[in-house]
Amino acid sequence: MNITLNIHPMEQWFPETRELPLLVAGPCSAETEEQVLQTAQQVQHDHRAMVYRAGLWKPRTRPGTFEGVGAKGLPWLQKVKQNTKLKIATEVAKAEHVHQAIEAGVDILWIGARTTVNPFSVQEIADALSGYDVPVFVKNPINPDLQLWIGALERINQAGITKLGAIHRGFSPMSESQYRNDPKWKLPIELKRLLPALPIICDPSHIGGKRNLIEPVAQKAFDLQMEGLMIETHINPDKALSDAKQQVTPQKLSAILDNIVWRRAESANDEFVASLQELRAQIDKVDDELIKLLGKRMALVDEIGESKKENNVTILQVGRYENILNDRASKGEEENLHPDFVKSIYEIIHQNSIARQERIMNE
Ligand code: PEP
Ligand code: MN
Repeated sequence: MNITLNIHPMEQWFPETRELPLLVAGPCSAETEEQVLQTAQQVQHDHRAMVYRAGLWKPRTRPGTFEGVGAKGLPWLQKVKQNTKLKIATEVAKAEHVHQAIEAGVDILWIGARTTVNPFSVQEIADALSGYDVPVFVKNPINPDLQLWIGALERINQAGITKLGAIHRGFSPMSESQYRNDPKWKLPIELKRLLPALPIICDPSHIGGKRNLIEPVAQKAFDLQMEGLMIETHINPDKALSDAKQQVTPQKLSAILDNIVWRRAESANDEFVASLQELRAQIDKVDDELIKLLGKRMALVDEIGESKKENNVTILQVGRYENILNDRASKGEEENLHPDFVKSIYEIIHQNSIARQERIMNE
């Protein structure tokens, strides 16, 4: 897959992120002027907070719930910008939102998960953004479709937005889950692999759906090299008009941040760098041996395949397969390898062995 985004590194358009991860905090929804201003005043006491978020146009799952104050809240955000050091951010879902937000001086826009799923909506937003130079973050779609996420990023980028980032907020779970939105870490990892220059921040509030999950999810995000966090913060979370269960007070936000270890992709410690290089060289060698051994193993599999063909014997012999799984799992344990890990490796090896022997049978 060929993806090219023309983007500027976040450090260029957000110099503070050279020193600290990007921290976005603020309420799920702007509710009243007082709530917006008081929350912002308290959030800014934490020197790590850089951006103040507040949803004005709220995409709610069911009608009849609070759908946001709309453009009426823009002057409240303007006041936050005037009275604090925080930049302001809000969600846009339509062309009209884009124009209104940018005209009001909103510094950063994001596209919500329910909008990312719809290419028509994303294109409408992209067209509205054309000609503006504003940072835009794209949340993952609610369904675990990496292509849809990438497609939305491409549409926004093609409109000329080069200050671009992604927000990982998890995916609607298919079954009972401890998370409100399943993190499916594989997807943001794959996005990072495909687009290493794209900053990805994590939204542990929407992943967790409850306060006690924010910290572990945020830690995991940093362990996976994500560049920042978006955490829903409210002056009075229990009374919040949306997402009450997952919002925290500004004080709790600071406590969470104190506990998280921010790990960087690289270190300036020469000793660490040297020993890492040495250990990686050893790993490369072991991997070379592993590959050679796998080749050797499969050559034996082929030989067996030939003789099974001659003797009209079935490829699969369930008893043998079962024995291999159990024997290797218990040998693995002696080497401090988890039995499930060893079993899953042998499942893949066995699948490939069958495929090779099938090819031989059909020759
Ligand atoms: C939000 O940020 O409040 C929001 C609606 O998020 P999402 O689009 O991730 O559901
Ligand atoms: Mn929310």
